Amino acid sequence: MNILTFDVEEWYHFDIYSPEDKWLSYPPRINLYLPKVLDLLDEKGIRATFFCLGWIARTYPGVLKQIHERGHEIACHTDKHLFVNQMTPEFFSRDLKCALASIEDVIGEKVRSFRAPAFSINEQTKWAFEILAENGIETDCSIFPTTRSFGGFPSFGKAEPCRIDYRGVRIQELPIHTASILGKEMVYCGGGYFRLFPYWLIRYFLRNADYAMTYFHMRDFDHEQPRFDYLSLMRKFKSYYGLKHSYGKFLRLLNDFEWENVHTAVTKINWEKARIVNLNGK
Ligand SMILES: [Zn+2]
Repeated sequence: MNILTFDVEEWYHFDIYSPEDKWLSYPPRINLYLPKVLDLLDEKGIRATFFCLGWIARTYPGVLKQIHERGHEIACHTDKHLFVNQMTPEFFSRDLKCALASIEDVIGEKVRSFRAPAFSINEQTKWAFEILAENGIETDCSIFPTTRSFGGFPSFGKAEPCRIDYRGVRIQELPIHTASILGKEMVYCGGGYFRLFPYWLIRYFLRNADYAMTYFHMRDFDHEQPRFDYLSLMRKFKSYYGLKHSYGKFLRLLNDFEWENVHTAVTKINWEKARIVNLNGK
C-alpha cells in the first residue's frame, strides 16, 4: 500500500516561523505547480490526499476547489501552520475548529483526516488525539516515528497503520514510514528527505516496503521560489537542497509505483487486526 499525500501551504509556511502579517506581502506561488501536478495525477488516474491549511481555504478558496473537483481527498493541516507543541490544548482546539470550518465551507464536505505541521504530535502533545477525535477526525497522519528537529515520536514503534488508544479515544493512525539506513530509522519519501536521497535508493526502499506514506509540498518542486537569506545554513540546506531535480524524481516515483489516497487506504485496512498503540502510559 503506497499512499500519496501533499501538504497545501505556501512556500513561506515552513518550519521556521514567518510572521503572519507579512504573508500576503510575499508573492503567491501556491498555484504555480499545483495545476501541473493535478494534470499529472489525472493522467495517471491517481487520487491523492491534500492536507490543507484553513488559512489557504479562506485566502485562496479556488485552490481547494480545483483539488476537490478533480476527485482528491481534502484533509486538514491546522489553520495557520502552528506546531501542535507551540499550542495549548485550548488553543489547538480553537485552531482546529477554525481550520475545519474554513475548509468544509469551501468543499461542502466533512473533513476526516489530519496532519500536524512538522509532524508535531509527540509524547508531550498526545492530548491532541482527544481533540482530533472530538472534532470528527477519524485518521491522523501526524506521527513521525523517529527523531526529528521539530516533533518526532521515536518511542511510537513500527511505522505501520495502527490504532491509537488514548484516554478512551481510538483514532486510526497512518504514520510516515521509515527505512533502516546505517542502523538508524530514516524517512526517505517526503519533503527534504525525498530531495536529498538519490532516486535509485528511494526506489529500492519502496520496492521492499509493504506500507509507504509520503508527503510533498508544491515548494518541493519549485526551484525558483524566493529564498529567505536569514535562515541558518542547515535550514537553507533542508529547504532548498535538490529542488532542481525533485520534480523529475517525482515523475519517476509516480511511474514506478501505484498510489492511492488516505480515504481509499483506510477502507482497505483491516483495522480489527491492526496493532493498538496504547499511549496512556507513555
Ligand atoms: Zn506543513
